[in-house]
This record gives sequence, structure tokens and C-alpha cells, in this order.
Amino acid sequence: MDHIGCICCNEKGSQTNLNSVFFVICGRRATLKVWVKRGNKQGMSGARGDQEQRPQPVPVVIVGGGTAGWMTAAALAHLLPGQCVITLIESEEIGIVGVGEATLPHLRAFNTRLGIDEADFVASTRATYKLGIEFRDWGRIGDSYIHPFGTFGRALNGVAFHQFWARLNAEGRAQPIDTYSLPCVAARLARFEPRDDPDAAIPGFGYAYQFDATLFGPFLRRRAEAQGVTRIEGRVVDVARDPSSGDVTAVTLSDGRTINGALFVDCSGFRSLLLGQTLNEGWEDWSAWLPCDRAVAAPCASKGPLLPFTTATAMPGGWRWRIPLQHRTGNGHVYSSAHIDDAAALDALLGALEGPPLAEPRVLRFNAGRRRRSWVSNVIGVGLAGGFLEPLESTSIYLVQLAVQTLIELFPTDGVTDVDRNAFNRTVDLEYDRIRDFLILHYHATERNDSPFWDHVRTMAVPDTLAEKLELFRRRGRIEHYGQGLFLEPSWVAVYLGQRIRQWGWDQRAGALPLEAVAAAVDQLQAETRAVATAMPDHAEYLARCGGALAT
Ligand SMILES: Cc1cc2nc3c(=O)[nH]c(=O)nc-3n(C[C@H](O)[C@H](O)[C@H](O)COP(=O)(O)OP(=O)(O)OC[C@H]3O[C@@H](n4cnc5c(N)ncnc54)[C@H](O)[C@@H]3O)c2cc1C
Repeated sequence: MDHIGCICCNEKGSQTNLNSVFFVICGRRATLKVWVKRGNKQGMSGARGDQEQRPQPVPVVIVGGGTAGWMTAAALAHLLPGQCVITLIESEEIGIVGVGEATLPHLRAFNTRLGIDEADFVASTRATYKLGIEFRDWGRIGDSYIHPFGTFGRALNGVAFHQFWARLNAEGRAQPIDTYSLPCVAARLARFEPRDDPDAAIPGFGYAYQFDATLFGPFLRRRAEAQGVTRIEGRVVDVARDPSSGDVTAVTLSDGRTINGALFVDCSGFRSLLLGQTLNEGWEDWSAWLPCDRAVAAPCASKGPLLPFTTATAMPGGWRWRIPLQHRTGNGHVYSSAHIDDAAALDALLGALEGPPLAEPRVLRFNAGRRRRSWVSNVIGVGLAGGFLEPLESTSIYLVQLAVQTLIELFPTDGVTDVDRNAFNRTVDLEYDRIRDFLILHYHATERNDSPFWDHVRTMAVPDTLAEKLELFRRRGRIEHYGQGLFLEPSWVAVYLGQRIRQWGWDQRAGALPLEAVAAAVDQLQAETRAVATAMPDHAEYLARCGGALAT
């Protein structure tokens, strides 16, 4: 199966090639015949059953019109035209979660596959460009590092740059690793311009967006409706199931209307109306490792240069995000209610705002974890209905995208089978589990001992999968190579080194070259990286050229 690439590498299949790897399978699927009975009241589980001899589109009901709902609707409508009839139900009275503004580079591939023009997207969602995430105060108070959407230096003779860096560092001759990364240097200078050539002397990088969460759904809605999606305003109050198969067959709205479907996508947010409440699918709880369970969010007026990155600042009971948009700055304080109360969390957030608040602060409650299975019967949980990992690495919208892509690849034109469900669940589970480990690393790899919260996460036992990764890195700087996945070598290097995990040894091949030659090459790379970054336009200037309009 084609897979979404990692966020950092510039190798084949990674972010700079996302446009070619995302959704490519869909064209092939689009030629499949459809044999599902119109308005299939029996649902979709099992074999085809009695077939009509003429292809019929699959009736798909999406419950929820947040980012997950509209991404699902827009992608299905655009990429499987004629193969499904889509109805989306949302409730204005309930509303959307209204956060989720920092993304990963994969979103560009999503937009491209849907034929979305970047300038239109940037103008419509008040987006800014994002080169990575700055982490402040995580290893120790006063520390700062950037996790970039690109590499550190470049490999030499097949040996990763950080191996040479480790050797130089042991000799006291290395500069901070991010000074060898173009996106990091450009970010620090508040400069931005796309540079995606992985073979350039100074390798290019990927980039993402930061956008207004309340504008992205409506932007996709306009497109989806133009492509035939029916939107129904209403509140789902009842769910009907087939007594023999257990499949969901219809949902009933508070005004009595009934909406039938064959395939149901649960995008109802934390409520998890179908997957959690109706099908009662179990919850895998990760709060022992990721104890943050609340956030208070408040936008404020922007101040200072427009930075092309998100900032995550560690706080005594959690951490705080800062997301610069064209017209405002998004802020939020993610915290552990076992370690700090709501009032203190709110005070800490308000005290840190760079400008006057633009809306009343909102408190959100959540738990880290996921449903044991995302696809059960004929219901697929996408977005917050399927699971939640805190936004430290901006991964939730990516997980929506992964689920939508996988659903499209497996789209059950001829009835849902266990094989489809299992394949879907394996793909989604694996990505959740790996992201979980990566997030835990941020908390665990710290020297902070200034609060009970940091004492807890610093000393807690971590999953074996993460403990092994840490050991592997410490011994020789090795990062486990995944064939697929989101966070690959540069991401792990960024967090390990940024949070003071040092490797004791290095790849022997990095020790084979003369030290002076390595030092000279690395110095030159650093100087050229800075020169390239300095020649880029200012982020605000580039944005204005691309249709952005900053608040004055
Ligand atoms: C504090 C916080 C910060 C976050 N930051 C980021 C980030 O920076 N980057 C990132 O990628 N992700 C982030 N996320 C996650 C991101 O916000 C979500 O993944 C994304 O918005 C998708 O949400 P959703 O569509 O699943 O749910 P929601 O936005 O909650 O939408 C749910 C929809 O279901 C509808 N609904 C619910 N019940 C019913 C009913 N009974 N009848 C009819 N309709 C119903 C609602 O009306 C709504 O339309 C963050 C999440 C939180 C909590």
C-alpha cells in the first residue's frame, strides 16, 4: 500500500514527494465496479449478498462537520466520484471543537489531491507557513530547539549527519545541531520560501500551514457541496442497528427525520456517537504516560514578527502553544489536572499572552488514547471520535488524513469484510502507537525537576518500545528505520538532542574519516546553510505575495 511519507526526510516517499504518493491508489480504485444495493438497509458487513446487476454508489453517512467530517466528505466526493452518495450531518447547536490550527506538511498533499489552490487556501483560512515546531524549556528551563520539517545537514557516504555531529561534539567542535538545518535557520530568521530540492547542496525541506480552525471546515464544505455532498443540519438523537449483523442502518435526528446509510463515518468528535456510544468500542487509555487531560485556549492579538513556526513552551504542569496566524495568534495551555487546577492554568495562559485576548478562554477536556478499533461493523471513527493524542506535534489532523486515505484505498464497494477492517485498523493503530511513543519522549527526556508534574514524567516507566529506541540511540546514535511512518530519523534526532539525550558512541564509519576533513566540511555546510536562509524573503513578505493579508 502506498503510504503517507514522513515529515522530515527528503528521500523518495517523504514529504517533498508527497504529491506523488498521496492518494495515488485512488485512481486505480476509481475504476472498480460498484455492486452495492441502493439504500442497502442491511448495511455492508459480510459478502455481497444478492446483487443487482448495475453498479450503485454506496450511501455514506458522515456524522459530524468539524475538520474531520469535512475532510472526509471533501476527499470522498472528489476522489471517488460516482462511487458514493454522501450525506453529512452536523449540529450548529453542538458546534465544533474549534482548535486544531497547526498542521504537518502532509496537508499540502491532501490539498493538492483535491485540486485546492494554495493561494485560495491561504487566503480563505488565514493561514501562515510553518517550518517546524520550536520547543522551549523542555530539556531544561532556558533551552530551545526546533523540530524542523527537514533534515539536519546531509548524509555522507550513506552515514547520517548526526553521526558526524556526535563525533565532532565529543571533541568540543560542534555547533548546535539546528545550525546545520536549513528550515531551522530560516525559522529563527523568520524567513520563508519553499525549497523542496532534496539533492541541492543544502537540502530543501517540507512545510506545513497554521490556519484558523473555524475556517477550514467551511472552506472544504463549499467544495464538497459543489461536488454533490448533501449537508443536513440536525442533531442525531437515535441510532438504528440491524439486529442480526449489528451494522448501523440509520440515524434519527431530533426533528424525527431518519437518514439511512450503508457506511457510517463517525466524525462526531469527543462524543464518539457511533463508535464509542452506539457500538461501545473499548478505549485504550494512555494517560499514565500522557497525563495532560485539559487545555484552555484563547486567541490574542499578534505582536512582533510573523514567525514561520509553532511554539510549544513547557510549563510547570504541562505546556503552552503559540500558533501565529495572519489575523491573530492562537494560544493554549495543555495541562494535567492532577497537577495544576483550572484557575492556575488559565492565569498562566493569560499571563503569557503577547497581546489582548480576542475571545473568552475555553476549557477542553480529553484523555490520551484511542478506540481499540477504529473500524467496527460498518462504522469508521475518524478524528476525535477515533482517538486523541495531545497536539504537541500537531498530529491529529494528519491522523484524520491517514484514516481518510486508508478508507479510500479500501473503499468497500462490494461490502465490508474483516480483511478490510483489519487492514484499516492495523494501519491506523500503528501510526497512533508510534506517535504516542514520540510524544512520551518529549516528557520523559527532561532534566526538569521543578514541579511534581515534571518529576512524574521524568521518572515514569515508558513503554518498552520507547525504552528500546532510547537505548539504541544512546549506544550508537541509531534510529530505528521504519519502512513507513510519520516521524523518521530527523524528527527523533531533533528531540533527542534538543532534550539533552546524548549518544555515547557513533556509527563506526563516521569515525573512519579524518577529523579535520569532517570539521571543515561541516563548517562549510553551516556557512552555506546560513547564506541560503538569509537570502530567503521574510515570512510576512512571502505570505503577502501569496495572497495572505496580515492584521494591521
Ligand atoms: C486542545 C486541542 C488542541 C488541538 N490542536 C491541534 C493542532 O494544533 N493540530 C492538529 O492537527 N490537531 C489539533 N487538535 C485536534 C483537532 O482539533 C481535531 O483533530 C480536529 O479539529 C478534528 O476534530 P473533529 O472534526 O474530529 O471533531 P469536532 O470539531 O468536535 O467536530 C465534531 C462534529 O460532530 C458534530 N456532532 C457531535 N454530536 C452530534 C450529534 N449528536 N448530532 C449531529 N452532529 C453532532 C458537531 O456538531 C461537530 O460538527 C487539537 C485538539 C485539542 C482538544
